[in-house]
Amino acid sequence: MSTIAAVSTGMAAGGIGIVRISGENAIKIADSIFSSVSGRKIADISGYCALYGKAVDGETVLDTAVALLFRAPKSYTGEDVVEISCHGGLYITKRVLRAALSAGAVPAEPGEFTKRAFLNGKMDLTGAESVMNLISAQGEEAEKIALGILEGGLFKEIKKISDKLLYDMALLSAWVDYPYEEIDELSSENLGGDIRNGIESLGKLINNYDTGRIIIEGVDTAIVGRPNVGKSTLMNLLSGTDRSIVTEIAGTTRDIVEDTVTLDGIVLHLSDTAGVRETDDAVESIGVERAVKRLENAQLVLAVFDASRPLSDDDRRLIALCKNKNAIGIINKTDLVENYLTDELKENFRKLVFISAKTGDGKDRLEQAVTELLGTGNFDTSAATLINERQLECCKNALKALNEAEEALNIGLTMDAVTVCLDSAVESLLVLTGEKATDSVVNEIFAHFCVGK
Ligand code: GDP
Repeated sequence: MSTIAAVSTGMAAGGIGIVRISGENAIKIADSIFSSVSGRKIADISGYCALYGKAVDGETVLDTAVALLFRAPKSYTGEDVVEISCHGGLYITKRVLRAALSAGAVPAEPGEFTKRAFLNGKMDLTGAESVMNLISAQGEEAEKIALGILEGGLFKEIKKISDKLLYDMALLSAWVDYPYEEIDELSSENLGGDIRNGIESLGKLINNYDTGRIIIEGVDTAIVGRPNVGKSTLMNLLSGTDRSIVTEIAGTTRDIVEDTVTLDGIVLHLSDTAGVRETDDAVESIGVERAVKRLENAQLVLAVFDASRPLSDDDRRLIALCKNKNAIGIINKTDLVENYLTDELKENFRKLVFISAKTGDGKDRLEQAVTELLGTGNFDTSAATLINERQLECCKNALKALNEAEEALNIGLTMDAVTVCLDSAVESLLVLTGEKATDSVVNEIFAHFCVGK
């Protein structure tokens, strides 16, 4: 297999930039582009050791650098890996990479380091898939899920189901071969119990999928309300900045301001929209139209009302738009009034929160309402979680086959028929963990990675 090289740090200037080289010639190639101060060669040091020196291209010195060696199989990819850490300028890292390529390495494909890790048995396919989620995690909870999977959480859960089924299939095939032998463990109760356990475990994984996605990807959230109710102030409170323009002139947020905030570990992709109101102003009406569209497409709507003013026609229009949406009614400016009549809002929102966006009072109540509404509050991020459609599809296929197996057992079909269903369930689970995934499935997964990962 070829020796690959890529810049593994981000494509922006930074303190340190790392060029990673992996493959059977990694050490030789690294030694030809790195010269240590001590005069020692990378080939002469042990794994997990580093040398300080210079990255060079022939006679040209490129940068001062550190070379870190991981010897096969104790490396990320399972191959010999050398990481050359230099200063994190885009030009420098590219220049060091070019030197590595001239010395015989080939440019790594997107995700090729992780693909090699998978192919060399360093991680299963779900672990490999979680690498991208880990890199792109924007909140603590998303990071926990991805790390749990990288460490084998999902793999172990799936393996537990498939191992049990494989064992039952082995007993069944022994029974088919030697029908007159007693096989104690093979009773239809035992078999039925294993199938039921598998159905329940897969059902749980599938049911948790949508909530897991919310935690992993974040939630598209629209802040809506008529002008001047305090949408921008709320957005600023949540994001902790002054990005939205806050003024006392109604209609100043003319377009959509976007930001990403973390609320109780959950990432909200917020957009503060133009107020929803009837308007003759041509520019503003485009903003209003967009706000309505945004509201319709949002996964979560924060509908803001002004506690210091009675409900207006625009408020009522908004209430109607929020029908059948995942919406929280927010009664803002509670610092200005003691009592606020909420009956009309109570009837129309599953959750109502009283806050003062100006003073910050009630932010914790809003957090609680969001997690309750999204169902993320009691989500166990340490439990095995499915993180993409491919995994979901595999679980659904396995579940369907197990349901058929259960039915075949219940209606007294032959054990052959049960075996066929179990075989199909196991097949789907092995595709999920990558033990039986085709090249095209594997290639498709890694094609979505970035180069250097
Ligand atoms: P938007 O048009 O809905 O985005 O409203 P803004 O966020 O621009 O706020 C309009 C006005 O209401 C500004 O003067 C804010 O300072 C004020 N405001 C916003 N929230 C509160 C609040 O909780 N209490 C008080 N007293 N004023 C607020």
